Amino acid sequence: MRKHYIAGNWKMNLNKAQSLELAKALVKELKGKSNKYMIAAPFVYLDALAPVLKGSNILLGAQNMAATDNGAHTGEVSADMLKDIGVQSVILGHSERRHEIGESDSLINAKVKKALEKGLEVVLCIGELLEEREAGNAEKVCAAQLTEGLKGVSENQLKNVTIAYEPVWAIGTGKTATPDDAQAIHKFCRKHIEKMYGKAASEAVVIQYGGSMKASNAKELLAMEDIDGGLIGGASLAADTFVPICIL
Ligand code: PEP
Repeated sequence: MRKHYIAGNWKMNLNKAQSLELAKALVKELKGKSNKYMIAAPFVYLDALAPVLKGSNILLGAQNMAATDNGAHTGEVSADMLKDIGVQSVILGHSERRHEIGESDSLINAKVKKALEKGLEVVLCIGELLEEREAGNAEKVCAAQLTEGLKGVSENQLKNVTIAYEPVWAIGTGKTATPDDAQAIHKFCRKHIEKMYGKAASEAVVIQYGGSMKASNAKELLAMEDIDGGLIGGASLAADTFVPICIL
């Protein structure tokens, strides 16, 4: 069984004091626990969080990153800047960036390649909209997002990529994919990665589920063969809702 990888995506929530308090609580409560953990905080709090997480078993993650190197790119934050303050991982292609900001597969792919080139781990989010699922196109959408998002990523680099399958209709809505529905797409994604990289790489790749995952449904989801972890939004905003998922 692949080790569970549980990541919290704080999105644009919490203030600085709350972020530090939550990070300190998580460090304490997850100490010695054997799953893999990451928290993705807003850019402005990453520098303050770095010393809190340093030496712990929780990776410091960002929620986005520029596709380019340092330079004249107003408002952007580079991989070098993230590395400089101790960030280890970055979420890319989150549906809120795809659908609210309009990030394209090719931009996401450029970010993925830049992050990997600079030595950051990547959580690459994929997932279909409700209308795409209802039209029977969930697999097609996920396959295209995988193919495009991983274009030019080598088999060796793939070791630093986690895939997060997040059906868009389940994010922040309280609607969760059933364990069987989620498993079916996870299995499909693993097969697709096998076509791209071969069996060994597909068996090793970690595929998280995301979409209203909480303590009450996480156990069933994480019990599925191809669900290796979770990317958690709402339930990651407090230790008492996040820790129970982390220690399953
Ligand atoms: C997410 O932020 O990726 C997410 C899955 O959010 P939520 O858990 O709130 O649905």
